Amino acid sequence: MTTVGFDIEVGLSDEDAAIRDTTHQFAEEVLRPAGAALDQLSDTADVIAPDSILWKVHGQYSQLGITELQLDEEMDPLRKARLIAIINEELAWGDVGLAISLGLCGFHGPWVQQSNDPELIERFCSLDLPTIGCWALTEPDHGSDTVALTEAHFSDPALKPNCIAHKDGDSYVIQGQKAAWVSNGPIADLAVVFCTLDPSQGFKGGGVFLVPLDLPGVTRPKPLDKLGQRSLPQGEIFFDQVRVPESHMVLGPDFYAIALEMMLSHANAAMGQLFVGLARAAYEHAVSYAKERVQGGVPIFEHQAVRARLFKMFSKVEAARSLARRVALFNAGGAPQVHYSIAAKTYCTNTCFEVASEALQIYGGNGLSREYPIEKLLRDARASMVEDGCNEFLSIVGGARL
Ligand SMILES: Cc1cc2nc3c(=O)[nH]c(=O)nc-3n(C[C@H](O)[C@H](O)[C@H](O)COP(=O)(O)OP(=O)(O)OC[C@H]3O[C@@H](n4cnc5c(N)ncnc54)[C@H](O)[C@@H]3O)c2cc1C
Repeated sequence: MTTVGFDIEVGLSDEDAAIRDTTHQFAEEVLRPAGAALDQLSDTADVIAPDSILWKVHGQYSQLGITELQLDEEMDPLRKARLIAIINEELAWGDVGLAISLGLCGFHGPWVQQSNDPELIERFCSLDLPTIGCWALTEPDHGSDTVALTEAHFSDPALKPNCIAHKDGDSYVIQGQKAAWVSNGPIADLAVVFCTLDPSQGFKGGGVFLVPLDLPGVTRPKPLDKLGQRSLPQGEIFFDQVRVPESHMVLGPDFYAIALEMMLSHANAAMGQLFVGLARAAYEHAVSYAKERVQGGVPIFEHQAVRARLFKMFSKVEAARSLARRVALFNAGGAPQVHYSIAAKTYCTNTCFEVASEALQIYGGNGLSREYPIEKLLRDARASMVEDGCNEFLSIVGGARL
């Protein structure tokens, strides 16, 4: 088994180190080659085709026991938070697009439990029959608007949503569409749909709905073709008079803003952890390449300027990792504070892009070639600065909490 050589986490038990190393092995042997193969597919329909390697990856992941660990209510919350941060980093070290797709598998669990609907719970929370979830929040005309918690326009009824639910007897009817960016949208079994319920309150008047994606009226085109994270299927979800029972509405406008803030806190903290993994992968590739590539008669690692550049990358990765893990522990200790999570997300993703870009520079021309791994890492890293909220806009939301 391969082990992780670059980890100064203090006081990891043998058991936790073994979980880390098993996850690392899965990332190295399964995720990294699968992510590279999926990235090369020119037709995004092939990424989710029945014979795609994506399904094998999902199957193997469900055998790892990570979902069980996430659901373990007996485990000390701080230990669990640290382990999940480490697991996220390792998975993304292998392939960040797949790490996000896999991470979303259990995303719907707590929402489904909250519905208290035995049928939903049996169908979507069984460990024997793992299901794939997604978070459908953003809309074609509203990206930043949907997370503008601290801004006046969040409550502006003049901003017209693209997706609305209304009560009809003892059920709700959903009409409209979600953006092409819904991660796992094309493959999910169940969507956790954050959409407008009371338009008079603007985006603040939202509700959270559980929508099985085999219901009549749901349609999904083929996955979006995009720059990075090509192993993560993303796509629009259309709702044409989709009817769900009352129990599928798990939260209404009274608690919507609070729930959204909690979601953003958890999602942004996880993004920070994931992109430390990608940054670390880029850094490690750069060190290996520098020790092999000979210029001036010696490996470029022997040139002091190159070594100093690598050390700067190393320091950046370690600083980002420290922040990501500290915020993970903080969030586990009580109510998360959204500005800390946003700090982790924006700092780690910006750092990740910088490190991937510096790694490409260490590779010289080879860094631009698809025969080498770096250009993919740079593309994957770039997407993170928009994902789960554009970094500049998230900073406005986080800044309002200072
Ligand atoms: C890889 C990836 C994964 C994603 N996964 C999901 C998912 O699972 N589910 C989902 O629902 N969505 C998902 N998204 C969508 C993502 O959340 C949005 O792309 C993001 O919130 C930005 O919205 P937008 O793209 O519409 O940009 P816009 O909101 O149109 O922003 C465009 C630019 O304007 C700036 N801007 C916007 N408003 C303001 C303002 N008020 N003040 C100052 N500047 C402003 C932004 O910072 C940005 O630079 C994903 C996106 C990506 C790239």
